[in-house]
Amino acid sequence: MRARRGQDALIRLQVDLADAVFGSTRDLTVDTAVRCAACDAAGTAPGSTTETCVMCKGRGEIQQVQRSFLGQVMTSRPCPQCQGFGTTIPHPCPECSGDGRVRTRRTLTLQIPPGVDTGTRIQLAGEGEVGPNGGPAGDLFVEIVVAEHEMFERRGDELHCIVTVPMTSAALGTSMSLDTLDGATSIDIRPGTQSGETLLVKGQGAGRLRSAGRGDLHVHLRVQTPTRLDPEQEELLRSFAALRDETTVQVGASSGEQAGGLFSRLKDAFTAK
Ligand SMILES: [Zn+2]
Ligand SMILES: [Zn+2]
Repeated sequence: MRARRGQDALIRLQVDLADAVFGSTRDLTVDTAVRCAACDAAGTAPGSTTETCVMCKGRGEIQQVQRSFLGQVMTSRPCPQCQGFGTTIPHPCPECSGDGRVRTRRTLTLQIPPGVDTGTRIQLAGEGEVGPNGGPAGDLFVEIVVAEHEMFERRGDELHCIVTVPMTSAALGTSMSLDTLDGATSIDIRPGTQSGETLLVKGQGAGRLRSAGRGDLHVHLRVQTPTRLDPEQEELLRSFAALRDETTVQVGASSGEQAGGLFSRLKDAFTAK
């Protein structure tokens, strides 16, 4: 029997974040060995058959007697004439040169389940390399690589993003539309929002394989201080500062005192002397 099981094959497939979160169907072009149709995987040319190997008389191995100081030692090794098969192919199939298989390109439809992540391997049983001379096929493994998203970063089943909020909106509060993987989602910026605060959008994170539900989307807010002011805007801000008695900066005010640690040490450094 010349047939052997074929090898497993591994290919990598890059998918975008939305496909990884929601699942997807993709057509894959794979290049693997398949059964040779010309000889029906036998490896022999039409009208010919395999023959018993004359060198090993069909045993597949050659035995040798070696003399040593311990006496006679019998060793065996695979027959070099037939590579251990016990048979030879005097007239190989011209299509596959006797291997019983040919390489071909085919298209498979792959079902990507929701929740896959980089490194997830999807196993397609029997879609790997067909074995020599009609041996069963190995499996095909598709390893997922999730492409980086320009806005969302995935950490386990959570997604994170950074949203920049103008200083005025952070102070006054507003609601804004955020394009998440699920579509436009309204988020509320509460009046008095500080830079570094996080909003949670429940259930709009990533998922996990074979588990129901999804994690949350964490929206990290950055309050943006205006960098270029025209004279009118500057005047307004100066009046605003005067109204709030903020024309001189108080070192180590409110939030710094509560935070302790680094902030209070910084304050000490400023107020010492
Ligand atoms: Zn063939
Ligand atoms: Zn042989």
